[in-house]
Amino acid sequence: MPELASYAVGQHNSRGRCLKEPPPAGRSEFQRDRDRIIHSTAFRRLEYKTQVFVNHEGDLFRTRLTHSLEVAQIARSVARSLQLNEDLTEAIALAHDLGHTPFGHAGQDALHKCMKPYGGFEHNLQSLRVVDMLEQRYAAFDGLNLCFETREGILKHCSLNNARRLGELGKRFIRRQRPSLEAQLANIADEIAYNNHDVDDGLRSGLLTIEQLSNVKMFARHIQAVRREYPKIDGRRLVHETVRRMISSLVVDLTEHGRKQIRRHRPASLDDVRRLPTLITFSTTVKDEQQELKHFLRQHLYQHYQVVRMTAKAQRVVTDLFQAFVAAPRLLPPQYQGTPQTAVARTVADYIAGMTDRYAMREHRRLFAVDEI
Ligand code: MG
Repeated sequence: MPELASYAVGQHNSRGRCLKEPPPAGRSEFQRDRDRIIHSTAFRRLEYKTQVFVNHEGDLFRTRLTHSLEVAQIARSVARSLQLNEDLTEAIALAHDLGHTPFGHAGQDALHKCMKPYGGFEHNLQSLRVVDMLEQRYAAFDGLNLCFETREGILKHCSLNNARRLGELGKRFIRRQRPSLEAQLANIADEIAYNNHDVDDGLRSGLLTIEQLSNVKMFARHIQAVRREYPKIDGRRLVHETVRRMISSLVVDLTEHGRKQIRRHRPASLDDVRRLPTLITFSTTVKDEQQELKHFLRQHLYQHYQVVRMTAKAQRVVTDLFQAFVAAPRLLPPQYQGTPQTAVARTVADYIAGMTDRYAMREHRRLFAVDEI
């Protein structure tokens, strides 16, 4: 690994783990965090959770697992160029979606609605609950006992109410401070990854067409360049080459603009980073283009009637499950039983959020279909 910049997170300026542990042998503390995340149950389940598409719709689409790997790949390469802590960025990227419900945003919205009277449901905060308490694998503690900076990076946003309850970790939201550059980077790598793979999956599924996408500046520019250079190219290869170039140009812009921002604001330490504005950002032109792409995807993909149908179905499944379990907690598997009455809703939310798409559908059938056991 190249030498870390003075403003990067390192072992010397880390706030460490909640529960002190002997240092790991042969790897850094942040490598250990990454390894714990990879070995967690929640990480494995990402394979059967989707962002936009319901998992059984096709084996070729991104799942949250492949999405998280793409985020990690993008974040790592930028981290290396900017002399940031690659291991920390990777750990954050791999963990950033651990708290997601089944069925992507549809599931999250439905669960949030159900949980409104009980403090709501935020997938970001849920990712933190997963690594802080819900994973039960280590003899000495609940959760994964990750380093402060990894947990801080996982908690991208948080309501002020929740921030007040989080102690040390919530303080930056109250003080309006920034997280580490590694966390800023993982956050924006997430955006690069999902915008581009949604274009790719959208085209592959036939929900989007190249003609439609040609109205989006960034896509049009790259597909034209590919066609100019390779006049005979078509089909999947044309799409892949175009998406590849979009990702690459975004990564280059982010790296160059990030470097410029660092030079301009001259952070000397991690504390400086926390006080300064967000430094890992796109240039203004690229930011505008990204906005245009996002807007396009919202209109044409996320609100496509076929996606809306899946969304409605997903919301029904989550809501039915929630209501059934809260009304009769004895329907819950044994490990979720025995919660005090006041905490039943949160336990049910934890159970549902941990489900994969297909598990949620199966559980719904088990509870509601009379000919199913
Ligand atoms: Mg994500």
